[in-house]
This record gives sequence, C-alpha cells and structure tokens, in this order.
Amino acid sequence: MWCNKCNIETNDSTCPLCGEVTVEDFPVEIYWCSNCRIPVIQVSVQADKGTCPLCKNKTRYMTADLRPVFPEERLLVELILQKKPHEYIEKSVWACNHRYYIDGKSIAISNSLYQTIDADKIVELLHQFQEGNSYEHFDNYLKTFVLANRDRLNYIIDEAHRFIRNAASKYPEERVVVSFSGGKDSTVTADLALKALSNPHLVHIFGDTTLEFPSTIEYARRFREAHPNAIFQIAKNDEQNFRDVCEDIGPPARMMRWCCSMFKTGPIARVINSLYRNQQILTFYGIRKSESASRSKYNRIEDSADAVKIQQQTVASPIFFWKDIDIWLYLIAENIDFNEAYRLGYDRVGCWCCPNNNRRAQFLSKIYMPEQSKKWRDFLVGFAKKIGKPDPEVYVDTGKWKARQGGNGLASANDVKIKFTNCTAEEYAKIYRLVRPFDDELVGMFVPFGRVAPELGKKLLREVIVLDHRTNVPILSLQPFNQDGYEYAVKVRTMNVAAHDDLQRMVGYQIRKFNACRKCLKCESLCRIGAITINNFGYYIDPQKCVHCKTCMTAKYLDGGCMMDKYLRTK
Ligand SMILES: [Zn+2]
Repeated sequence: MWCNKCNIETNDSTCPLCGEVTVEDFPVEIYWCSNCRIPVIQVSVQADKGTCPLCKNKTRYMTADLRPVFPEERLLVELILQKKPHEYIEKSVWACNHRYYIDGKSIAISNSLYQTIDADKIVELLHQFQEGNSYEHFDNYLKTFVLANRDRLNYIIDEAHRFIRNAASKYPEERVVVSFSGGKDSTVTADLALKALSNPHLVHIFGDTTLEFPSTIEYARRFREAHPNAIFQIAKNDEQNFRDVCEDIGPPARMMRWCCSMFKTGPIARVINSLYRNQQILTFYGIRKSESASRSKYNRIEDSADAVKIQQQTVASPIFFWKDIDIWLYLIAENIDFNEAYRLGYDRVGCWCCPNNNRRAQFLSKIYMPEQSKKWRDFLVGFAKKIGKPDPEVYVDTGKWKARQGGNGLASANDVKIKFTNCTAEEYAKIYRLVRPFDDELVGMFVPFGRVAPELGKKLLREVIVLDHRTNVPILSLQPFNQDGYEYAVKVRTMNVAAHDDLQRMVGYQIRKFNACRKCLKCESLCRIGAITINNFGYYIDPQKCVHCKTCMTAKYLDGGCMMDKYLRTK
C-alpha cells in the first residue's frame, strides 16, 4: 500500500504517519537498461532503483509509461521516417504517445508529419517490404523484458487477484459480469477475473458498437472459441444505422458522443436488463486511472450515478492502477491472445471513427481501412457544407469537426426547443408546441409523475388527468389543443401543488423527449428498474414498473430532460 501524502510504503490500509487512506497505487517509472536493451519498470521508492535486476548495470530514467512497437508498426515507422526498410529490425523499439524509443534513443513523430505524408505510397511500400519482416529479434527482447520485470508482474497479478476475489465475494457467482470490448485492457481484465475466480462460466458482455475494427470482431471470435465455457453475450444496436443518425443530428464530436449511449452503453444496459431484471450486479471493467483525466477522479470500485453509465451495476476495475507497460507485461508473460490492431500501431482500440482518436490513429486507418476512411471523410466534408462551413475540407482535415458543439445549421435542432405560450384563460396552464399530434406516446411520457387517469378527464376535450402517486390527488391535466402558430399543441395545467414551476419544468422535459427523442437509449440505461423501453413503437414507460423516482426528469442525471438538448442546442 502507498500513502500519496507522505510518499511512503506501508502494509496498512491507513497511513501510520498521517492517517490518510492508502492506495495500491505505487508511482511507477520506466528505466532503460542499455546493456539488456529493455525497459525496466521501477517503483520510485524501491531501494535498488537505477539498477537492472538482470545484469546489475546502471539503468537510466526514460519515461512515465511505454508500449512495445511490434514489427508491423516498426516497419511503418521506418517508412514514415524515410529510413531504410528494416533498418531497426535488430533494435529494441518502444513507444509512448508520439515518441518512439529506438534502443533507448528517442525520436518524436509530429502530428503534422502524419498529415502531410502520402498514405497511398506508404501502403505500396508496406506491401513491398512486409515479407522480409520478422519477429525474431522482437521476441527475444520481449523475453528479456519479462525476465527483468518478473517481480513487478507477480506483484500486480497478486494484488489484482486479491481485489477481484474481495469484490466478488459480496455478490452471488451468477451476478458477476465481465465487460469485454476487444481491447487490451478488457482482455487483461477478463483473464484476471477468470483466473482469480476459477469460474470458466463467467458471463462476458461484448459491446459491439457496429463501428469496430475488423480485427476486433475477429479477436472477439477467437476469444469466444478459446473460452467455450464462458457465457458470451453480444450487446449490439441493430435498430439504428450510425450514418443515418449522423445525417440527422450530425456526427459525434468530442463533447457530443451520442454514439456512446446509442451504440455502447444502451445496448449493454439492455442485455443486463434482460439477464438480471433489476438486480444489482458487479461488472469488472478494464478502466484505468492513467487513461484520462475524467477517469482519474473515479474510484476503483464505483456505483455512484454520475460515474456509472448503467444504473444497476457496480463497476470494479482490477487494473485501475496499471500502466500501459503493465498491461503489455501481463499479455506477453501470460502468453495471451490479443487484438491484432495493436501490432499495426493503434494504441487504443475502439470505434475507428471516434472523435477522440488522435492523428496517428486516423493516419493508421487511412493505411489499413482506406475505403472506410475515405467514405467517412467524404461524409464529413458533405456535412460541413450542409451546416454552412466556409472551408469544408479544411474544417474536416484539421480536425475542427471534432470540436463541434450543439446543433447549429441542422434542421433537427428545431425539435429540442421547448416552445410554449402561457394560457390566457387559466392559471398555471401552458400550451406547448408538439412536432406531431397528441397521442398515447405523449400521454405515456407522464407516467413518472404518477397515475395516468384518462377516465377522470373531460371526454369531449380528450383530457387526461395525472394523480400524484402518493396522495392520489390530481396534479396535472393534459389536453390536445389548437394554438395559432403551432401545428400541433398540448395544454398542460398543474394543480394542487406548491411548486407549479418545478412541475412545469419537468413537463417541459417530457415534451422535449416527445419532440426530439432520437432513441439514444440514455433514458433506458438511466432507469434503475428498467421501466423505460425505446423501440420501434416509440418511447414507453411501463406504469407497472415505474417507481416515480423522477431520475429521468432530473437535470442532474439528464440535463434538459433529453440528451438531444445538448447535442442539438443552438445559440
Ligand atoms: Zn540489464
């Protein structure tokens, strides 16, 4: 254990000096042994820091984290740097972000180089020289690397196994799940969980976003074959087409990744729902603290609503404190099959067109998925024209499309604007614009408020009354309405409440959902008890299941009552 405040190691869960809670997170650094030509992972407090455990020579500090560069990527780097093909074939090559280390000597490849390079030419050269490529030297370095870092490996495995057993001990065996994405982190997590729990029947949920690398689908197939006893569920949104949604509400951008709920967490929540109803489950995820700033503020075990995207699960990450180099050490030492994309040079594997991908990843996709890359670029350029960007190609090629916010220039942006008029005849009544006629789907949107009672309304007016679920007192009246300027409208009156405005705000949220829902599935994932389903017939809240917690109408959990408010809002 480690105290971050006093910088000391201890066996206790609290620091003996300051009393703060200690963590399993040792600050780790990468040193280089120029004699063995391999990186050595060293804990900054260890006594023999700066010495190679194999040859006892002096090591020197190199960097904070590192990944191996496989022969496929090494050849590509040689071509990019205009070196002789296979010039580095006998060298020990590693990388960290845009920096490559060749026998310990660092070379950076700048983003601008990726942009100016002729991808077609590189593809041609790769074909020409891949035959002479070999894993011989590479494999030898990896063997030495594993030998030199044995102690570190044993420590992280032991610690992860203890963590997994401890977390799982609080759940019945059948309610423990592994989230599998086909990336290296989830590969390691799945393997650790399998070994720590000695349960070959562990449930794996594979979220297939429909935007995966071909190698990810292929790897998932191999994984399944290698684990015939594991229960392997595929979570996939078959109902919607990514490109069609892009046409309608615009491509995802860094701040607007609507695709995450629509194609990943939503479908996973559906699978969890169908398997476990509303039981709380434990999911092992390959989330790592060092991966992003937003993740670093989460805990290793997390069940708070803003951290967990699917409400009925507690998320635990055995590899939370692991670095990239730990992941690779484990995969190599334990001889575990992994996604081929890493051999090509991708340092993360997710949706191939993700706005979070860096320049290097985009460049790699140009090389290895040329057709899809071109189609995607053409779409982006067309989209840029549609929303009135003066320099569409520059907008796309410089990556400005990734910084897009809101729905400027999109026809669909009109759907999220809540337009209403205060009723002149009645107090506390508002007339809301609808984008289509008043119907049962709209009435169903009011289930979270209480009991929906059409039989209590005035029949001729098609009025529906909603009763407070605790007191049975009428609190809302809805009726279809004709209003100048609105093609369709509903009149909503609040009654018998102290806070009319609070109630009307939530009404507005539900109207927005009715007008703007694009089936992003966020609401489905948000509902703790699985009362919300979004299908071909529309948005449905099951009155038998709904417990009126109002989470789906609370800004804290769902700003504006609908994710589309964020994605389509205009200034
Ligand atoms: Zn050495």
